[in-house]
Amino acid sequence: MLNICDTCGTPYVESNLDFLSPDLRHVAKKLKYKPACQCLQKQSDQEALERLEEERKHARKEEIERRYREARLAPRFRRRRFESYIPYDVQQEEVLAVCRKFAECFEEWRKEEIHSLLIAGQTDRGKSHLAQSIANVLVKGGYTLIYENWARVLSRFRRAFKEGNAEDEKVPLLECDALVLDDVGVGSTDEWVSANLYEILEFRLEWERPTVITTNLTLEELGNSYGERVASRIQRGYRIVRL
Ligand SMILES: [Zn+2]
Repeated sequence: MLNICDTCGTPYVESNLDFLSPDLRHVAKKLKYKPACQCLQKQSDQEALERLEEERKHARKEEIERRYREARLAPRFRRRRFESYIPYDVQQEEVLAVCRKFAECFEEWRKEEIHSLLIAGQTDRGKSHLAQSIANVLVKGGYTLIYENWARVLSRFRRAFKEGNAEDEKVPLLECDALVLDDVGVGSTDEWVSANLYEILEFRLEWERPTVITTNLTLEELGNSYGERVASRIQRGYRIVRL
């Protein structure tokens, strides 16, 4: 079908070349309007630019989605922000500031001798909210991170152990840049549980990879539940904050 350019009046034919693959787009651009007057050339350049921008946006979204999946962060937790944490007392205010600093200055924190964080306190003080806010900042910052509830870690471990692939479950927890273990202390404990927790904490300390733990327990109670070795690792490498 013959068209006329609105601006300069040159007759031209327009072809639909959308079926061409993206890597042939530069060809498509040249063939779309025949002959292409300057106005049409400009228009097709603009269209190509917009499409490229659209694709980039899509790729960025996909990349963030992939990181979140790898982080095991459930959609509800992805909305947690420091900004929506309302401190009701000085203690909560102080812990909020520490958590914020940890997430926002992660690059400096991870180089420190004390590079991990234990957030202790009663239920409903917002420990998980803070831990999830940390996770969100780090995932968006491009760090590899795993966020897991401790009870779920254990059930995954148990299942993997039975199936003979315990290592596959454990390795990601050892290797990610930051590991967040939520609600350590909940669930039954025995020597096997303690040994696994110790192995994770010890390995990550040795490799200087920060861990964030939230718990209802005091350090002493953690020692009672998981053994002195676990308590001493926490004492050695963790900044302990109380809510
Ligand atoms: Zn024209």
